[in-house]
Amino acid sequence: MIVFEVLTLFPGMLEAPLSASLLGKARSAGLIEVRIRDIREYSTGKHRVCDDTPYGGGAGMVMKPEPVVAAIEAARAESMATARVLLLSPRGNVLKQEKVRALAAEEHLVLVCGRYEGVDERVRQFVDEEISIGDFVLSGGEPAAWIIVDAVARLIPGVVGNEASITADSFSDGLLEHPHYTRPQSFRGLEVPSILMSGDHAKVARWRRRQALLRTRDSRPDLFSKLSLSEADRLLLSEDETK
Ligand code: SAH
Repeated sequence: MIVFEVLTLFPGMLEAPLSASLLGKARSAGLIEVRIRDIREYSTGKHRVCDDTPYGGGAGMVMKPEPVVAAIEAARAESMATARVLLLSPRGNVLKQEKVRALAAEEHLVLVCGRYEGVDERVRQFVDEEISIGDFVLSGGEPAAWIIVDAVARLIPGVVGNEASITADSFSDGLLEHPHYTRPQSFRGLEVPSILMSGDHAKVARWRRRQALLRTRDSRPDLFSKLSLSEADRLLLSEDETK
């Protein structure tokens, strides 16, 4: 069982997304545990202030280090030191499926959400790693925390009903996934490829592999260039595209 623990100034933002659908079911089934820790509870003083103006001047507010670090330390202590603490930050290592897989092997992930201009620089000394979910800026770490919990949880055995669907997912083997179709057979004049209705499993598998290769080549040349293609893959790619 993996424990996800989100440290945030806005617990209400995460309660619904972390309780619905797949994540909600995984929690009820005891496959994952999700805790939300309110950073404000670790601030001292009458007004429980968690942010302050930046030294050196400039726009915006900065999250004060004391409550964030106190919340991290409380999480570490309760996890019996098994916690891996991730600070969400646009400056961090950009999340990839490979990293998601590594995180799924952890026992206890603590996700620290920044707000405003971000957290005081010294907080970095108290975390294990900084993670970004992409080259863009959010107004807070909470949506990023949701994304990480979602991506990691679906790799925990039992969370996604059909485990085969995980191994075929995009990025699992360096490729984007093949296209999917369901009923109706004809939709506004667009037909389902007939091979998918042929009942020939080997042919379907070859078609899907070829589509995955083509999609990756056309949409993500960066991923495609990293593949080491087998002879069979090369042959598939060289087949007549109109077939
Ligand atoms: N001033 C900062 C941005 C702060 S955004 C800068 O320019 O780098 C406020 C908070 O949102 C951050 O502390 C972080 O926790 C979260 N956040 C913003 N973009 C993110 C991203 N791409 N990945 C992960 N967290 C992000």
